Amino acid sequence: MTTVTAAEAAYVVAALLFILSLAGLSQHRTSRSGVVWGIAGMVVALAATVGLASRSITATGLVLIAVATALGAGIGLWRARVVEMTGMPELIAIMHSLVGLAATFVGWNGYLDVDAELTGSLLGIHHAEVFIGVFIGAVTFTGSVVAYLKLSARIDSRPLTLPGKHILNVGALVAFVGLTVAFVVRPGMGLLIAVTVIALALGAHLVASIGGGDMPVVVSMLNSYSGWAAAASGFLLANNLLIVTGALVGSSGAYLSYIMCKAMNRSFISVIAGGFGTPAAADDGEQGEHREINAEETARLLRDASSVIIAPGYGMAVAQAQYPVAELARKLRERGVEVRFGIHPVAGRLPGHMNVLLAEANVPYDIVLEMDEINDDFPATSVVLVIGANDTVNPAAIDNPASPIAGMPVLHVWEAGHVVVFKRSMAVGYAGVQNPLFFRENTQMLFGDAKQRVEDILRGLDALDTQVPEMAGTSR
Ligand code: NDP
Repeated sequence: MTTVTAAEAAYVVAALLFILSLAGLSQHRTSRSGVVWGIAGMVVALAATVGLASRSITATGLVLIAVATALGAGIGLWRARVVEMTGMPELIAIMHSLVGLAATFVGWNGYLDVDAELTGSLLGIHHAEVFIGVFIGAVTFTGSVVAYLKLSARIDSRPLTLPGKHILNVGALVAFVGLTVAFVVRPGMGLLIAVTVIALALGAHLVASIGGGDMPVVVSMLNSYSGWAAAASGFLLANNLLIVTGALVGSSGAYLSYIMCKAMNRSFISVIAGGFGTPAAADDGEQGEHREINAEETARLLRDASSVIIAPGYGMAVAQAQYPVAELARKLRERGVEVRFGIHPVAGRLPGHMNVLLAEANVPYDIVLEMDEINDDFPATSVVLVIGANDTVNPAAIDNPASPIAGMPVLHVWEAGHVVVFKRSMAVGYAGVQNPLFFRENTQMLFGDAKQRVEDILRGLDALDTQVPEMAGTSR
């Protein structure tokens, strides 16, 4: 068997391992084995690629590849070990930016180093591949960098609304099509520079135009773009595995974006077109006065409640409050209070973020319910504890058609008897919009770090146990 045949066979094995990996990752139960299949696929792919390359490169080249692999693996390992759960989306975004950057470089290299055997229509196809690869790569690169900056709160998460923003986006696409034709007919560095600049600007503008509430969709959409960028590089490098892997990532990312758009009641086209048709940031206006509560009063409220729903959000992850929250749920259940958790599909900063934290703290699965399963139960609930959630419990999504989160399904917490909101200040949530929930008659704010406040409540409940029980006054 020649090296080329062996490498091609290894590529087929690697592609199968990647498919097994995707299948494994689609369910909690099999996700660990999914990761192992993925690692195995990557090891096979790397070994085959280096084996293939060793036929045509010098010993120095091989040493450089080894050094680059060790460096990349070292940095990847270090980042993966130190990253906080709440920092995962920004890590993923910055990884996507590297895929985009690599695809842009591969495209440029394809232009500067054309295979002398390519002539006629094959050369035209090659130049089209170069142009498309550079375009997708550059859009992915700057789009992902802007997503990283938004997710890490280094820039404002509110949508950028330049005048005529949709005309700018459409103009960039039309220019891309025109320049591609020109480049295939008469390739030149000026055209390649022009498309690179346009794509860099378009990527940044598309993501900057999308509001914080839609960022989960943007992250999976950039995941898809990075897949297509890798597939484009695969065509340029004549690497079948890169084409297959890129297409797998591209299509699964696009499908995930579609599912998330459906869950968020968003138009897929609107989100990929940089927030087309979504309202600009609304003027939050005067909301009135909020009321406050302390931990002791909250403990009393909970002691007298018959049913409690806990709606956790990003703030619970920041405070790492899941352990005392689990303890609170356990204590209340021991007292005969019905306790359940209501989980919004995009609560936190990762799909499934809250489920992972609650599982970590050993909260039983059967009391953790999805938004659709619990939304009708709020009117019959005594007390809702909103622990570090904001956008996902914002009634403006239903009441205010001008709100940037209008139409997004939310947890109807305000329909309960009492709502206690745990947060540190009156600051807005990730989407950058004020929350009218905080000013409702039946809402009280419990300010401070969520973990400390829940621990205060636990102490408050213990203290109440030592007192003579009062008449239940708040249960419904
Ligand atoms: P939000 O991000 O809307 O709000 C979190 C709240 O937590 C803030 O109001 C903050 O208020 C509070 N908070 C922060 N730290 C603490 C702390 N230590 N103790 C107590 N409170 C704290 O949260 P949600 O989970 O409701 O919504 C998630 C948002 O993130 C949505 O807009 C979603 O679209 C977006 N998103 C989701 C992703 C996903 O895949 N799940 C990915 C990317 C974005 P304060 O500062 O006053 O304490």
